[in-house]
Amino acid sequence: MRRNFVLHYETTIAAAHRLTKDVYTKKCAEHTHGHSLRIVFTIVTTKLDETDMVIDFGKLKDLAHQYDHRNLNDFFENPTSEVLAKHLAEEVFKMLPDAEYIGVTVWESDHSRVRYEIRNDDLTRLLNTCKQLDESLRRKETSQ
Ligand SMILES: [Zn+2]
Repeated sequence: MRRNFVLHYETTIAAAHRLTKDVYTKKCAEHTHGHSLRIVFTIVTTKLDETDMVIDFGKLKDLAHQYDHRNLNDFFENPTSEVLAKHLAEEVFKMLPDAEYIGVTVWESDHSRVRYEIRNDDLTRLLNTCKQLDESLRRKETSQ
């Protein structure tokens, strides 16, 4: 039997970009232009933090909104929705290394979206737990 928390958080940002790969010559490569990007975070986890939350929704909002009304080319070499989705998922993973699943969907229009997924398997989670234990032991040793 499996028991999880499944968190969803959705927000929308407005951001500019221009795709820069020479091999891509369509509309998004011509001029810097704006998109209204709907970003959906999905997190599956069995663990809650010290406040009994999966994660404070505000942290996810801040993560997405650092790109609101910004030019994504200032942050990413070739800012496709795929690149943004992957980056956001990796940032969530840094905050929640024990989460079983992290998915970030970036909607570029009403008809097109992309999702990047991190499936944290049992072995990876076990290794993370070992690393955390190791770190807390080391902290204890140095504080004595
Ligand atoms: Zn575009």
